[in-house]
Amino acid sequence: MKPMNKKCEQFTDSVIRRMTRIAIANNAINLAQGFPDFDPPKALTDRLIEVAVSGPHQYPITMGAPNFRRAVAAKFKHFSGLDIDPETNIVITIGSTEAMVDTLFALTNPGDKVAMFSPYFENYSAQTLFADCEPVFIPLIPPTFRFDANVLEDTFKKGIKAIIICNPSNPSGRVFTYEELKLIAELCIKYDVYAITDEVYEHIVYDGRRHISLATLPGMWERTVTCNSLSKTYSITGWRLGYAIAPKAIMDKIKQFHDFNAVGAASPLMEAALVGLEMPDSYYEEFTAHYAHMKEIFTGGMKELGIPFTDPEGTYFVLADIGPYLKKGQTDVEFCEEMTRKVGVAAVPGSSFFREDINNIVRLHFAKKDETLYAALDRLADLKTKMG
Ligand code: GLN
Repeated sequence: MKPMNKKCEQFTDSVIRRMTRIAIANNAINLAQGFPDFDPPKALTDRLIEVAVSGPHQYPITMGAPNFRRAVAAKFKHFSGLDIDPETNIVITIGSTEAMVDTLFALTNPGDKVAMFSPYFENYSAQTLFADCEPVFIPLIPPTFRFDANVLEDTFKKGIKAIIICNPSNPSGRVFTYEELKLIAELCIKYDVYAITDEVYEHIVYDGRRHISLATLPGMWERTVTCNSLSKTYSITGWRLGYAIAPKAIMDKIKQFHDFNAVGAASPLMEAALVGLEMPDSYYEEFTAHYAHMKEIFTGGMKELGIPFTDPEGTYFVLADIGPYLKKGQTDVEFCEEMTRKVGVAAVPGSSFFREDINNIVRLHFAKKDETLYAALDRLADLKTKMG
């Protein structure tokens, strides 16, 4: 038979999601794929029960239910200050994953270069390859995960078409400062580059930090696509509700891809999730405080165990150094599989995030109930004996 798409050889399945399957098979605590094991707000699940009876159950308007788009626009205005038109500036997608794919297809032509910081969320490179583009990487330098401004500009000089910015950043936990974003913005304008942001962790920031949307910086609205989702903010990763926000000229093109890729996001779930988008400020304050609480339990425990890790400024990820526990010649992928089996805690190997040749880092997440975190820490206490 004729050969299939040769792009398939350029990437594998998602290692993050593969680790979930391995965790389930081994009855391990899943600190690999980032999702909570606690319930969404009761207001959402109560509404979902009502919607099961009242509907809607049929196709939504392709671009997203009008009331849902209006609520997304209102929330975006509330947190970013930007006034957007729900008719022309928003599309509701199947998670932010679909928003990013549609965006990459809309903005690029085959052969274009798309920049991203390394370490990066593994979706970005695969999605860039879907679009027949070439991913180029800008290192975020450990332990602070800041970028070198000269290296950043050198990347722009290579003639990139777009840059992907995950902020707060998965997996490094960086929350980019206004100054850093301003530098990125100035380069986007100087070199005529589109910005594609992934802001799904916008409300998971620590120590009084504030998330800033790149689209709000001077001159950036025109060239920025803001991708986001409800997954993290309302603990509904399985509902697969995301969205993209962009100026009309770009959004018109994104909508073309969305229309034929997805038809639309799930209509009953949009209707039920609406109550989330309409939550008062106190919801976000409690949500952020809850994450600070989980971070304290987990990072406090990691410190006690003496496992070196990065303390995140935002997101719910830590990057842990497993160098002292690695056997000679063992890869981080092998280590994570063995740890899942023997220790009963699943992590993601760092090599799926870093472009650089790094073998001693794993990503763990702490979006879990207190008791799950304590149980995971108990198991990690045996890391040395069980992995030795
Ligand atoms: N963003 C989450 C993570 O990095 C979930 C990934 C996914 O599977 N969509 O773990």
